[in-house]
Amino acid sequence: MEKAKICLAVIDDAGAAAPLTALAGRLAGRVFVAAIDAPEAAVNAEKAWLISTGGAGAAAAVGAVTRLLEELAPELVITGAGRDSRMLAAHCAAALRTSALTDADELTPEPGAIAARRLVYGGGAYKSVRAAYPAVICAGPSLAGAAAEAAPCAVLEEIRASLPEGMELTGRAEKSVVKVGLGAAKIVLGLGRGVKDAANVERAAAFAARIGAELGCTRPVAEDEGLLPRERYIGVSGAVIKPALYIAAGISGQIQHMAGVNSSGVIIAINKDKQAAIFENCDYGVVGDMMEVLDALDEKLS
Ligand SMILES: Cc1cc2nc3c(=O)[nH]c(=O)nc-3n(C[C@H](O)[C@H](O)[C@H](O)COP(=O)(O)OP(=O)(O)OC[C@H]3O[C@@H](n4cnc5c(N)ncnc54)[C@H](O)[C@@H]3O)c2cc1C
Repeated sequence: MEKAKICLAVIDDAGAAAPLTALAGRLAGRVFVAAIDAPEAAVNAEKAWLISTGGAGAAAAVGAVTRLLEELAPELVITGAGRDSRMLAAHCAAALRTSALTDADELTPEPGAIAARRLVYGGGAYKSVRAAYPAVICAGPSLAGAAAEAAPCAVLEEIRASLPEGMELTGRAEKSVVKVGLGAAKIVLGLGRGVKDAANVERAAAFAARIGAELGCTRPVAEDEGLLPRERYIGVSGAVIKPALYIAAGISGQIQHMAGVNSSGVIIAINKDKQAAIFENCDYGVVGDMMEVLDALDEKLS
């Protein structure tokens, strides 16, 4: 396995720092970190630059990151999976005159290139690709969320970032963020379109609270029906969960949803259609009306 010579890990999310820098160490001989507004990300590297944007956000770090790319000329750049990480990857790719590879998992160094596997067709298939150096990789959630050790960097340098020329910060507004603990939940109750309306969502949420479950849903329940916030949808383009128990209620079981729940310990499916695909993918299946079954479970448990 021929490693890349130099990798710059560009990190804007302290939570992803340990897995991404540990990954960089497996792929390259020398690892450097550009830690954007995240001093905790200065780990597992020969040197880290702490780029402080003074609250202006990751976009303001682009100039500083570009200068680091010029200085280091890395063969490999790794970023995380979040929205800002992708934006940073696009800027790095432009600076290195290459393109960014998103949603990558299973990275393997090859002579002069990196081989990667990517989920395509909304999670229905994998594609194997080979990116010649210099390569810019956005690690997918499975790599960015993996467990890893973090050894603090001995050499740190602080950089104060400024917005690129021609751009100024004209205002700032708080965005209400829904905090959802799906990733760490031991029990998750997932609601599909079968839930139908807000009153049923409320009833299901009360049941979830009683059994200590976090509430999740399919994408259409969040994006089309607007019955739950986007932060609660699970699947290839949403949250990836690994609870001990996943209860899928009124969910058909399409691959794009199941890709986010396949690591659950036990899956119980409730669906009124006995032909529903979810019954191919669960440990226990109940054919019936989801609200009636949840009510019956509630009664039994209480
Ligand atoms: C690129 C791409 C990415 C996608 N990413 C995601 C993703 O990340 N997450 C995701 O979830 N989806 C995603 N989707 C959408 C996905 O393909 C499915 O359309 C979606 O998961 C279906 O949601 P659902 O099961 O709630 O709805 P449906 O497929 O409409 O199924 C509803 C189910 O409820 C059952 N039902 C109805 N009434 C009752 C009742 N009273 N009691 C019991 N059962 C009942 C029905 O029998 C049916 O099986 C993606 C699609 C694409 C193209």
